[in-house]
Amino acid sequence: METIFALSSGMPPAGIAVLRISGPQAAQVLRALAGDLPPPRRARLAALRDGSGALLDRGLILWFPGPASTTGEDLAELHLHGGRAVVAAVEAALAALPGLRRAAPGEFTRRAFANGRIDLAEAQGLADLLSAETEMQRRAALAMAGGAFSRRLADWRERLLALSARLEAALDFEDEEDVAGLPPDFAAEVDALGRDIAGFLNAPHAETLREGFRIVLSGPPNAGKSTLFNALIESEAAITSALAGTTRDVLVRPVAIAGVPFSFVDTAGLREEGGADEVEAIGIGRALAELGRADLVLWLGPEGEGPAGAWEIEAQADRADRQAKVAPRNRVSALTGEGLAELKHALVEEAMGAMPGPGEAALDLRQRTLLAEAAEALQDIGEGIGGQLPDQLIVAERLRLARVAFDRLTGRAATEDMLDALFGRFCIGK
Ligand code: GDP
Repeated sequence: METIFALSSGMPPAGIAVLRISGPQAAQVLRALAGDLPPPRRARLAALRDGSGALLDRGLILWFPGPASTTGEDLAELHLHGGRAVVAAVEAALAALPGLRRAAPGEFTRRAFANGRIDLAEAQGLADLLSAETEMQRRAALAMAGGAFSRRLADWRERLLALSARLEAALDFEDEEDVAGLPPDFAAEVDALGRDIAGFLNAPHAETLREGFRIVLSGPPNAGKSTLFNALIESEAAITSALAGTTRDVLVRPVAIAGVPFSFVDTAGLREEGGADEVEAIGIGRALAELGRADLVLWLGPEGEGPAGAWEIEAQADRADRQAKVAPRNRVSALTGEGLAELKHALVEEAMGAMPGPGEAALDLRQRTLLAEAAEALQDIGEGIGGQLPDQLIVAERLRLARVAFDRLTGRAATEDMLDALFGRFCIGK
């Protein structure tokens, strides 16, 4: 195993620069630079020197012997003065040591995963934590990185293995005369496990958390969509990692309101298809597609004519000649700001329902799909499969399928492609 190093703190110049070194030679590296090792996990001030004995910098050094380090390997940290030349000089001294090389993006985390320090879900949580821009994203990523989901998976997997063991035992002891059925309560337990897993399929979606709760403003031309859109997003913090976008007809702006990520979408005016010219028809097509992708539609058009589930918004409330609504969900004026705070508050409340609660993680499509596979494999065993009392071999196979899904969730069975994609999301030094 090669020893790797990288700058783990941000781009210099900065107050402090943190260089990390992980691998079997980490101790040797510290000795070469600082003379000897500090006590484990205790910072010590040291003069760092290159191979010729020239002083490079004075800084703090830390020594984390493996396997109880974050990477699971011997790990050293150098806290240097954060100047460009300081970092460059120390990096050059490291690169000159035999067997050392610069780390690839995410390589420290990948080693932590390879050494069993974290599982795949936790690694994903870490990646999300580093890219988190809103309070809600930070909280959910921290839960995932801290093992909120992994602990549950471990618990389910343990129950599954116990069930498999009982089934194996039953199969082993079975003889021709006494065709034992499934062990007592066995089917009920499989069902209960399947239901527990299925209950998690409604967990908040990581995609919604990442891209924001998608709110589409809809209604005919001049309903006041663009003006309200601008009033809603102005003075709110843009989320830079989410996909902002502008096409000719659709404008997408990701912002955080009260720590909750949103994507506001302004669409071209919806008109009767017949009356629209070709270019407008394209815009209308896009607007309709946007409605399909929305988490919530704000309908500014004539009451009752919006898509199902849309909120009736009475816009331009300051105007006497407005289209009044009998039962608007919200009445707002983008011009005077009337009703705007209430609308935002209601939107935050609504979006919170789709976001993880405190300590709760969000699951992405891959995780939800694998959970669904596990839940499906365990389904119907209690009631009998296809009206038949389930054959023990079939049940054993179902349990195996569920275990395979779990192993793919935790990364016990992960493909290189998948790992490359995940760890490629990290920056160098993580
Ligand atoms: P859109 O076609 O639905 O995007 O509508 P716009 O936002 O472009 O608004 C159409 C017209 O109504 C513009 O002239 C706006 O200035 C005006 N307008 C929009 N919202 C308000 C409002 O709250 N109060 C008033 N008085 N005028 C508004």
